[in-house]
Amino acid sequence: MKILVVNCGSSSIKYQLFNMEDESVLAKGLLERIGLEGSVLTHQPAGKEKVVINGDVENHSVGIKLVLDALTDPSHGVIKSMKEIDAVGHRVVHGAERFADSVLITPQVMDALEECIQMAPLHNPPNILGINACTELMPGVPQVGVFDTAFHQTMPKHAFLYGLPYEAYEKYGLRRYGFHGTSHRYVSQRAAELMQEHMTNLRIITCHLGNGASIAAVKHGKSVDTSMGFTPLEGLVMGTRSGAIDPAIIPFLMKKEGMTPEQIDNYLNKKSGVLGLSGISSDFRDIEEAAKDGNERAQLALEIFAYTVRKFIGSYAAAMGGVDAIVFTAGLGENSIAMRDKICLGLEFLGTRIDPVKNNVRGKAAEISVDGAKVKIFVIPTNEELVIARDTKEICANLV
Ligand code: ADP
Repeated sequence: MKILVVNCGSSSIKYQLFNMEDESVLAKGLLERIGLEGSVLTHQPAGKEKVVINGDVENHSVGIKLVLDALTDPSHGVIKSMKEIDAVGHRVVHGAERFADSVLITPQVMDALEECIQMAPLHNPPNILGINACTELMPGVPQVGVFDTAFHQTMPKHAFLYGLPYEAYEKYGLRRYGFHGTSHRYVSQRAAELMQEHMTNLRIITCHLGNGASIAAVKHGKSVDTSMGFTPLEGLVMGTRSGAIDPAIIPFLMKKEGMTPEQIDNYLNKKSGVLGLSGISSDFRDIEEAAKDGNERAQLALEIFAYTVRKFIGSYAAAMGGVDAIVFTAGLGENSIAMRDKICLGLEFLGTRIDPVKNNVRGKAAEISVDGAKVKIFVIPTNEELVIARDTKEICANLV
């Protein structure tokens, strides 16, 4: 069974074609600058040279067609015809309370996705465009939606409700949804495998630290709390996002600086976080470099980031009545030895400590806590695409 996994952003399409016999990736790629001049498709067939295809791609439908052409091209393609694609799995950002699991795409599901647009006006529309493009180009091929929010639908009400009038939840669905769910699900399950324990015996704190960053408390295999909220802006200080702030700052700044709702949204989402704090970059590599050279604001940005992560770890240990494992994943979590060290310094009270030798690892699964630690610390590379492919396979296998 061959499954195409598609992740559509507003101006990009990421894809991977899986052979599910052995879960190998036959090809993967990224199409950027959709709707802009000079679109670029970077296509990587397994075991072959990368190919760069330039052209103007005016919309997602043309983009998906370009991806299918690349996959079936006689020289750099990996399949003879698109008939070899048995199913398509889509990453969908927001499933609100409608979707607690991955789902076969039907016209009813598409209607529900349209309704979810109000919750994720930036993210869901391109996901819908991608699904529509595949329906048009691959009629009859089953498609599955895998939601970033789904894993967190197990959160209890006391964890997902804000201290707002209850009507705000009933009327507008104002509550914590959480994101990165596919990643938190995958790495928590991998941690249980590495510990040779059943998920139902474990309390795991998963730290997805990339450009966007979130933490989840996974108790007995279920998400019971997470740091992102109604939108992916809440929680940790991130690359360019503020994370949690006193909400009274928003009207204050709007008045003082004469900002419109769009401007304050942009300020909090694009100009804040470690970028705003350091004044250097949103990329942790640049900030770590500047901090090493003695830049104080860079050092402060790293300190604030590590401190917020550490505080969440402590609060989630309290939320679960203890913790058995802490997992670091995504770009920063998988690669920054220094940041993992900084975050964990001060967690000894939980019964854990990083082993500096074991921590000398990047991008591969490893336990990095000292031998005999009561709480294990892991680095586990995330693989959201594989989860999407597996869910798609499972749902499509049950079709008659
Ligand atoms: P996203 O998917 O949210 O865009 P990623 O998970 O790819 O993000 O993470 C990207 C971030 O990871 C970059 O901003 C960078 O700061 C950080 N990162 C990647 N590699 C390293 C590294 N070797 N050292 C420090 N930070 C890194």
